[in-house]
Amino acid sequence: MGGKRRKRTKIIRVKPKLPKTFECPRCGKVSISIKRKENIARISCGSCGLYTEVEVPPVFDEANAYAKFIDMYLDGRLQIKERTNENTEEENEIEGKSEEIPY
Ligand SMILES: [Zn+2]
Repeated sequence: MGGKRRKRTKIIRVKPKLPKTFECPRCGKVSISIKRKENIARISCGSCGLYTEVEVPPVFDEANAYAKFIDMYLDGRLQIKERTNENTEEENEIEGKSEEIPY
């Protein structure tokens, strides 16, 4: 009667990353991306081209900003700007990481 020893496999929990894409209230696709810059969250849908900005307090993360956006959208308080192709270049701006190397 030898008990079988089962090796316990360590379960490595991967911290769930914050979803970076959210469902678009207009086209229903999960293609909303949010970029926060100080207290402005830029919200854009990669699918239908919806684009808007909402003011958010600095403590808000993307999910909070999204919630506020949905709130305002459903309320009709939101000014929706269409993202035109001309604007897409701006989207490619690299933000956040600006490492300055001191010489
Ligand atoms: Zn959309």
